[in-house]
Amino acid sequence: MLSAAASAREILVNLHDVMAARTNAQAKLNQVVDIIGEAMDSEVCSIYLLREGVLELFATRGLAADAVHVTKLALGEGLVGTIAQNGEVLNLDEAASHPDFAYKPETGEDRFHSFAGVPIIRRERSVGVLAVQHADPRRYADIEIEALQTVAMVLSELIANAGLIDPANPKDRPQQSTASIRLTGQKLVEGMAAGCAVFHQPRIHIEHTVAEDIEAERHRVYAAFDKMREQIDRMTREAEFGVGGEHEEVLETYKMFAYDEGWSRRINEAIDSGLTAEAAIERVQQRTRQRMRQIDDPLLADRMHDLEDLSNRLLRIVSGQMGTAAQMGLRQDTILIARNLGPAELLEYDRRRLKGVLLEEGSLTAHVTIVARAMGVPVLGRVREVRRQIAEGDLLLLDVNEGSAVVRPSAAMEEAFDAKLALRQKRRAAYAALRDVAPTTRDGHRVTVMVNAGLRDDVGALDVTGADGIGLFRTEFQFLVSATLPQRERQQRLYREVLDVAGDRPVIFRTVDIGGDKALPYLVQGDDEENPAMGWRALRLALERNGLMKAQARALIEAAAGRTLNVMFPMVSEAWEFAEARALFEQQRSWIASRNRRMPNEIRYGAMLEVPSLAYQLDLLLPQVDFLSIGTNDLTQFLFAADRANPKLAERYDWLSASILRFIASVLAPARDAGVPVAICGEMGGRPLEALALIGIGIDRLSITPAAVGPIKAMVRSLDYQAVAAEMGRLLANPPRDMRAALAGWAQANGVELG
Ligand code: PEP
Ligand code: MG
Repeated sequence: MLSAAASAREILVNLHDVMAARTNAQAKLNQVVDIIGEAMDSEVCSIYLLREGVLELFATRGLAADAVHVTKLALGEGLVGTIAQNGEVLNLDEAASHPDFAYKPETGEDRFHSFAGVPIIRRERSVGVLAVQHADPRRYADIEIEALQTVAMVLSELIANAGLIDPANPKDRPQQSTASIRLTGQKLVEGMAAGCAVFHQPRIHIEHTVAEDIEAERHRVYAAFDKMREQIDRMTREAEFGVGGEHEEVLETYKMFAYDEGWSRRINEAIDSGLTAEAAIERVQQRTRQRMRQIDDPLLADRMHDLEDLSNRLLRIVSGQMGTAAQMGLRQDTILIARNLGPAELLEYDRRRLKGVLLEEGSLTAHVTIVARAMGVPVLGRVREVRRQIAEGDLLLLDVNEGSAVVRPSAAMEEAFDAKLALRQKRRAAYAALRDVAPTTRDGHRVTVMVNAGLRDDVGALDVTGADGIGLFRTEFQFLVSATLPQRERQQRLYREVLDVAGDRPVIFRTVDIGGDKALPYLVQGDDEENPAMGWRALRLALERNGLMKAQARALIEAAAGRTLNVMFPMVSEAWEFAEARALFEQQRSWIASRNRRMPNEIRYGAMLEVPSLAYQLDLLLPQVDFLSIGTNDLTQFLFAADRANPKLAERYDWLSASILRFIASVLAPARDAGVPVAICGEMGGRPLEALALIGIGIDRLSITPAAVGPIKAMVRSLDYQAVAAEMGRLLANPPRDMRAALAGWAQANGVELG
């Protein structure tokens, strides 16, 4: 008996000629069934294709010719419908005795006993079925089935190229994948959006499945394996110093798969059967997927995810399709899908077309989330198994307010979504009406509400929201969006434009906070850090590489000529660091003054308090600063020793905890005595219940994401300051286990608007 590779190859060689011929698609399919039937010594060979949701007999050798385009089966109907629906093979010696058998008299198939069918799969979905039948009641051998599956893969290329099925058209998809599904996740950036699914790392499109030159394909795959192994080795090596634990385990598994002889052998065998390197990798992956589907083990499913990742990596290398979706450009309203993203990767996308993001990982204060919030792009995080549930091009309705996304919605769902969107816009209009009213409590306590910004376009939020100023301008965003280090002139231009738009309203520029999860590709930071959030970042880096800080100081001082310049330094851990940074700015001020340039009217210096150690040097710091701003994002991660970007910790600690609130209160008292204003600029301040607690402990300056200004103003205006101050005093003196529930209950009883 022939080997699987040899029998598939014999068929593929013949198919190659058919595919290259200039005949129409129907004629090609007619030839294909003859070739396969002949090679497999089967009286019958038929091709069913999915059109308009049903499987239609498109070509046959052996069944009645009149049945072509007449015999149709629904998904799940008969043997053919069952194969397509389950995406699985059937191999039967007696077809009629199978419980799903459905007799179609017009085909004249009652003469045939044995039956074998395999799904024709395109982009992980069944788009048809290839079946062979035989008069003798015999089961087909495994190698014959294997050959059929290889042929089915090539057929999917022929069918797609001929436009016989349209996988991008939801109507032509199998029902199991056209059905709407609802995915849930964590609310990272609230909002609603509709768009088509685009994968950040796009699925590779395999253009050719049949090899012209088997040896050449083999070399391509060897070279790709070498390159992939190199990459994995590098990743493992770089992670070696001390990462340990789970990360290391994952890399070890990757390494194990990357070097797995069985995997490379199977790919090689698939190449032997006549497939191109790409098609062979995909074929082996299909087979593994199919096998794994039969094993219900979550641990194995995780491993499968790794293998899938590696297989995609190998495909990308071999096909040279390495770019992200951003580099290829978005063509329509898009919901981006990724396992995780860095802030710089997100910023590469066209903001006009990027409507929402769905992440498998993600956490509330990771910088990518903050950037998305600044861009006004809703993000749903920690959505499981997105790749299995969503196909590129699927329509998605993202409703992060509900913590969900609907994939392939029905018309009724779209209608309900639109109605809700309209309602939300109405609510936003109501918030917009608060633009010109001050955030003052019912008993006359004025709260200063400013916005966080970082890009030129964000500054427009000042006018839209009626905020009191920009309480945090993250200058590193300009660095993140640039391909090269922005020179002083470019920085200066941006700062001047921001100040122009702000007019009389204050803008607090934070000097670059790079490092951590905001790495710049063009700025080599030296060794890879084991724990970058606690590493050489922000002011630590800036004081050592002071050329960067000097250029920024000059750009800021020159941009603020004739106005007040507010600067603040990130990640100050000890008072001397602030003193050094301030001295560096003062040096630049003297240098510019010595050139008789026009100077700022005043420079006010502030420190971010986000590293807890600084709270124990307030006696040293307060006499030197003009203002303080508490960065609750980093503060929380350091106070709780909980990585802000780790999805597993994303919901573990609550901002409404006695630890954080007491910590902030302990900073407020000495600052008040020293006459130093204190603001909150972390994400916490933009959430109505959290802001309520902060106001209750004495915070009266918030710098928040622009979308939160309306809801926070509404909350403040519904509030009695004296009452919440008394309540927070009670709660902090004797903290309940669930501070959130206690405060929410109080807010409801006291008519506080929480949005
Ligand atoms: C913070 O840490 O709270 C903060 C506002 O700064 P960033 O989020 O940019 O680190
Ligand atoms: Mg910070």
